Amino acid sequence: MTIKTANLGFPRIGRHRELKFALESYWAGKTDRAALLETARTLRADHWRLQREKGIDIIPSNDFSFYDHVLDTAVMVGAVPPVYGWRGGPVDLDVYFAMARGSSGNGHADCGHAHHAAGAAALEMTKWFDTNYHYMVPELKADQRFELTSNRPLEAFLEAKTLGIHTRPVILGPVTFLTLSKALDDSAPIDLLERLLPVYVRILSELADAGVDSVQVDEPALVLDLSDKERQAFALAYKALAKAAPNLKLVLATYFGPLGDNLDIALQLPVAGLHFDLVRGGSTLEDIVRRAPAHLALSLGIIDGRNIWRSDLQAIASRIAAVVALRGEADVVIAPSCSLLHVPIDIELETALDDELRCWLAFATQKLDEIALLGRHFTAGDDASSLTASQQTMHARLTSVRVHDPLVQGRLHELRGIEQRRQSPFSARQPIQHRRFKLPALPTTTIGSFPQTAEVRKARSMHDKGELSYVDYEAFLEKETAAAIRWQEEIGLDVLVHGEFERNDMVQYFGEQLSGFAFTKLGWVQSYGSRCVRPPIIYGDVARPNPMTVRWWKYAQSMTDRPLKGMLTGPVTILNWSFVRDDLPRETVCRQIALAIRDEVHDLEEAGAAMIQIDEAALREGLPLRRADWAHYLAWAVECFRISSSDVSDETQIHTHMCYSQFNDIMEAIAAMDADVISIETSRSRMELLDAFVERDYPNEIGPGVYDIHSPRIPSIEEMGTLLSLARERLTDGQLWVNPDCGLKTRKWDEVKPALANMVAAAAKLRLEL
Ligand code: GLN
Ligand code: ZN
Repeated sequence: MTIKTANLGFPRIGRHRELKFALESYWAGKTDRAALLETARTLRADHWRLQREKGIDIIPSNDFSFYDHVLDTAVMVGAVPPVYGWRGGPVDLDVYFAMARGSSGNGHADCGHAHHAAGAAALEMTKWFDTNYHYMVPELKADQRFELTSNRPLEAFLEAKTLGIHTRPVILGPVTFLTLSKALDDSAPIDLLERLLPVYVRILSELADAGVDSVQVDEPALVLDLSDKERQAFALAYKALAKAAPNLKLVLATYFGPLGDNLDIALQLPVAGLHFDLVRGGSTLEDIVRRAPAHLALSLGIIDGRNIWRSDLQAIASRIAAVVALRGEADVVIAPSCSLLHVPIDIELETALDDELRCWLAFATQKLDEIALLGRHFTAGDDASSLTASQQTMHARLTSVRVHDPLVQGRLHELRGIEQRRQSPFSARQPIQHRRFKLPALPTTTIGSFPQTAEVRKARSMHDKGELSYVDYEAFLEKETAAAIRWQEEIGLDVLVHGEFERNDMVQYFGEQLSGFAFTKLGWVQSYGSRCVRPPIIYGDVARPNPMTVRWWKYAQSMTDRPLKGMLTGPVTILNWSFVRDDLPRETVCRQIALAIRDEVHDLEEAGAAMIQIDEAALREGLPLRRADWAHYLAWAVECFRISSSDVSDETQIHTHMCYSQFNDIMEAIAAMDADVISIETSRSRMELLDAFVERDYPNEIGPGVYDIHSPRIPSIEEMGTLLSLARERLTDGQLWVNPDCGLKTRKWDEVKPALANMVAAAAKLRLEL
């Protein structure tokens, strides 16, 4: 028996986001392809060398991607829709980028999900399982043909080999590839398995011929609820793949959750090894060890690849030792739970973080250290002191006074007694609010942000760098806000917003003012393509020492007689877009954030805000992978929204905003949130999304988006009028608001101004017909 260490994937973007800048410069035509290829090659070489230096035994190759590994797979197997003009053979990099971004180069707006930008047919983009990474959805059809366009894993393996590094290529498994794809007709992608397999067979046999001894085949679909057909596909697929290259060791990698009812399928597959996520499926370890066939190598995903905390290596070592003791002759591999794609690269770059906090954290590079240390512990028997040191660090974090705020804990305790319901039901609140606001029918409003122009961003960055004093920065923001208010009044919007010019990001802006949050300078994580995010780190109890938005709301409201919405990000969204401490259940952390937002709502109301919007853009994103777990998540998510929003009088109007494309399966939760007004993204679905609300007899007010803010196109009065008519077929006039799909921060003023003027005109025109 042997014990080895492995990595499943390393972040591609580069310590200083070199790949991002190389891509964007290439797309802008500023640098040529050779420069882009060179940057990519350097990054791959650096990452391979780093992993070797750290002492990782099994180093992945083909984990690099110019945009996305699902897109890479689609291109590799020739699943390139005809519109991109590919005629067989190797797929040109520009065709690849056209699939990712559309041929006119319109990127995706940052609303969490994806679409075809106007005039540019990019593939659809969607969340990779429950991560904040987004993949391009392959488009297949019933008569789909597959062909091997180029053996990418082989090229990667050979590239590493020339550097003297023997790697284990990673490929996305055929079953997961098909389950993540969508059919353009009414066929089911999984039915294409038998057509797809010959391509995989060829990839593997070429790898074997080239001297590859082992391949990591990613099949995370095994942690999902699967149809019978999908479950059967695994047996079929792996029988064929095992035959393709009998000497090649296939290691099937699953991650992001326990296998549950799919465990038996996995254990019966003719593969050499199985990788399990023991961070998210830890409780099933015993079951796995007991039932796994004797020959099967077990890859233990035991270092958290989804979070940024240093591990207690002592505790982990005992878990591994237990497995080793039981497994007898079979191989054991120590690995991260999943690819390290989902964490930032190196904590050592965060020189601005204090030492205490920094030593609690492990980014990708430090996780390699942890894995290597565990490996040496078992193979060389040394490093016991390092294991104890890691345990002490963990212990120090868990007991630090910085992490525990007795006041917060006390309030959480009292929460049970707090009424998490509005004083009166919606039916009683609505007439009170209508009397108060006297808005016309079909009131017009926007979602919150106005264009974050180059000027706005420049002022912020100068202020951050200390080149612009706070007084001057504030004066600049006041000028922008004032202009936005005047302009909203001019075009005749009914309910105004202040424009969010002072906000860098809808989560960061709040996190920076809450205690228990830390921020990195270079802690970037790929979100999609060249886009990266720097998630806040929630390390301690969350409290709100001071009001966060009241000052800007007051300033803006003082300039107008029309109602101006106070604008907040909701607790669930803040949670879902952060790295969350692992010593408390997520729901507890979320309740803490909810209490902080509740305080802010209270202060806004006290300052005179009559309408308060609490955005929950990411509520749906937090849905667990398995249906059986949805009810529990939705129950606490809704509870948190209600904690935030219920401490107001009946005459205060609570708005929420959600940019989803699907409501039908979470309608009970949406209704339970009981916001007075909800604005949603509907313009692309031509209002069909509203059907879920109609079916549920949803009584509260709704603002279905009539302006697609993801496109630079300016919608006409007629177009928006048509959408409103479609909405009126589904909702009562007393229910309907008129607004864009989402915030306007990514748009330009010369798009926003005519578009919103048209929107107001469309509402005015329709009012005449009432
Ligand atoms: N209020 C935010 C804005 O307008 C909402 C953004 C979002 O939902 N993604 O920018
Ligand atoms: Zn939105």
